[in-house]
Amino acid sequence: MDLSLSDTQAGIKQLAKDFCDRELAPNARELDRTEAYPEELVPKLFEVGFLGATIPEEHGGMGLDYLSYGLIVEEAGRTDASVRSMISVNLGLVASSILNYGTDEQKAEWLPRLAGERDPGLGAFGLTEPDHGSDPSSMTSFARRDGEDWVINGSKMWITNGSRGVLTVVYANTDDGITAFLVPQDADGYEGRPLHGKLGLRAGDTAEVTLTDVRVPGDAVLGEVGRGLRIALHSLDNGRMSLAAGCTGISQACLDASLAYAAEREQFGKPIAGFQLVQELLSDIYLDLEASRSLWQKVAWLHDLGERHTIESSVAKTFCSEAAVRNANRAVQVHGGYGYSDEYPVGRYLRDARVTTLYEGTSQIQRLLLGRHLTGVSAFT
Ligand code: FAD
Repeated sequence: MDLSLSDTQAGIKQLAKDFCDRELAPNARELDRTEAYPEELVPKLFEVGFLGATIPEEHGGMGLDYLSYGLIVEEAGRTDASVRSMISVNLGLVASSILNYGTDEQKAEWLPRLAGERDPGLGAFGLTEPDHGSDPSSMTSFARRDGEDWVINGSKMWITNGSRGVLTVVYANTDDGITAFLVPQDADGYEGRPLHGKLGLRAGDTAEVTLTDVRVPGDAVLGEVGRGLRIALHSLDNGRMSLAAGCTGISQACLDASLAYAAEREQFGKPIAGFQLVQELLSDIYLDLEASRSLWQKVAWLHDLGERHTIESSVAKTFCSEAAVRNANRAVQVHGGYGYSDEYPVGRYLRDARVTTLYEGTSQIQRLLLGRHLTGVSAFT
């Protein structure tokens, strides 16, 4: 059950549900099977406005509140988690950073593109490196000044939208500390190579990015020189809400698929839905689903009130991602042997859910953040 929704929010939810059922659901299995990027879908996502959901109307977006945004992301997560990831990174990690820290010129240059109003293209968030994931503060990508310009060298790993987008927020060390740079993906020396063979999110663009003497002007710095890590952490507060909403969508999909299967599948002369132990599986999915939805919607509510929600985002991200993994596992169990093939979607739900306890801060890192919040003692130092 959702929080009480306004008429506009309920309308957005219905729009998102209809769009995702029509445009995402029918192709999700084939895209997953073939690891194909949803080329034809991206223009439709721009057209319907979802890729610009939280970007203000003056910059070409829909100007929606975060609750509405979460409703869209939940529907995308329910139908195709690869597409959900694409939207979350574009808005939760990239557009929100530019909105919060960008100059008027940077907003005017990039936000209409990320929203799809002109020269549409996706944004990527380049923090992780091959040897530096949970501890980005030790990154080795480096930007040096050259007159008015900066020259960036380094490599980034697992970058969503990193080879098929238009912009990457690249985090690199400078003499004054980690700095965020707005790097066009067509800049000389920027190379994004798609990664294949992933367990899940197989239709998503996940790239290894190499930066070789990438030259950007001084005004490509986002926020202040040396304050990049602050931008990354702040944007992760937004990204984690969106991730939690997407995971709730996976849990909803697990419930829908499991209820349908349990009603149709018969053993011992009756539908398996009538067996108490199957009902336990279904009820446990539902319990985790309802708790997940309450948690992400609480974060959205805080965001819409203008409150900071670092801890609440971390709680929602941790719970909803782990709940999605539990629920996908339960859904496979309900489906028996058929759950182990891609004739049914629950195997994909499990593979897609699995990454969500890893990215945007692993479950272990989240617990250390919560531990520091509760005890006042940092396990990182
Ligand atoms: P590591 O940091 O090496 O961790 C390995 C294990 O050690 C984990 O279990 C971790 O919890 C544990 N560990 C590490 N440190 C501690 C500690 N102090 N205490 C206890 N346990 C610890 N990154 C981006 O920047 N942008 C993206 O768009 C992006 N998209 C991604 C998409 C996909 C599909 C994937 C798989 C990853 C993506 N990532 C992205 C990277 C992701 O955020 C990292 O994989 C994640 O932060 C973990 O880093 P790591 O893989 O280097 O693991």
